[in-house]
Order: sequence, then C-alpha cells, then structure tokens
Amino acid sequence: MASIFTKIVNGDIPSYKIAEDENYYAFLDINPLAKGHTLVIPKKEVDYIFDIGEELYKGLFAFARKVAPAIEKVIPCKRIGLTVIGLEVPHAHIHLIPINSIYDMDFKQPKLKLEDTEFKAIAESIRKAYAG
Ligand code: AMP
Repeated sequence: MASIFTKIVNGDIPSYKIAEDENYYAFLDINPLAKGHTLVIPKKEVDYIFDIGEELYKGLFAFARKVAPAIEKVIPCKRIGLTVIGLEVPHAHIHLIPINSIYDMDFKQPKLKLEDTEFKAIAESIRKAYAG
C-alpha cells in the first residue's frame, strides 16, 4: 500500500506544498514544532533514509539545502535545524525546523495547532521566497 507521503506526492491527499522538482517534494508538517516546519521527501517511496540510493540520497539533501533558505527568509529564527526521525511515517523524510534554541528541536514539545488559513499563508510565503 502506498505511504501517506506517496499519496501526497500523487495529489491523492492534500498538502501545503513548498517546492518540488522531478525527484523531490517539500511540504509543511501538519503537526509542526514551529511555524514553517517543513518535510522534504524523495518522490520515490523508500522507508529508511539510509536505504535510498546514493544519488537520490545526495539529491535529497541538496534539495533540502535549497528549501531551507526560503523558510529562513519567511520565519524569524536563528537557524533552520535539520533532523531525520522516521519512526512514524515509513517514507524517508527530512525535517527542516526554524529554531532559536536546542529545545525547539525537541519532538516531545507540544505541537502547534494552526488553522488551515495560516498553513496556507505560511506555505504561500515560503513558496514565493523559494521562487526567489
Ligand atoms: P517521523 O516519521 O517520526 O519523522 O514523523 C512523521 C512526521 O510527519 C510528523 O512530524 C507528522 O506530523 C508528519 N505528518 C504525518 N502525516 C502528515 C501529513 N498528512 N501531512 C504533513 N505532515 C504529516
């Protein structure tokens, strides 16, 4: 069965899109630790990030590297933190999270509850920043 992220890539379930190219897709996390919390995935469904082929793996980080500055332009923060967990969704993904302290990367912190309109506005701003 297709992963929830494959369904997002295929447009079968909605997402707040940030950026995409032929091989990668970036979208807002729906249970964000911070405004602008973004997931970056390969369109090809592979569960464990270290099982991704060399070229696709390198490209995933190169794509995340292009997305991070766009988030940083829109969301005031000291840095964009990057982490990989992958315990919940079996489709490899990188978390990009605007942070001001190490605690902002703590997944035990309560998640933000944002309205659909706010997700849309954040995604649109980051998309524009990404388009440059
Ligand atoms: P993990 O696999 O532990 O890295 O966590 C998966 C992440 O995916 C969590 O932060 C979830 O909030 C996020 N997530 C799960 N389903 C969706 C979805 N449909 N759209 C956006 N983010 C999601």
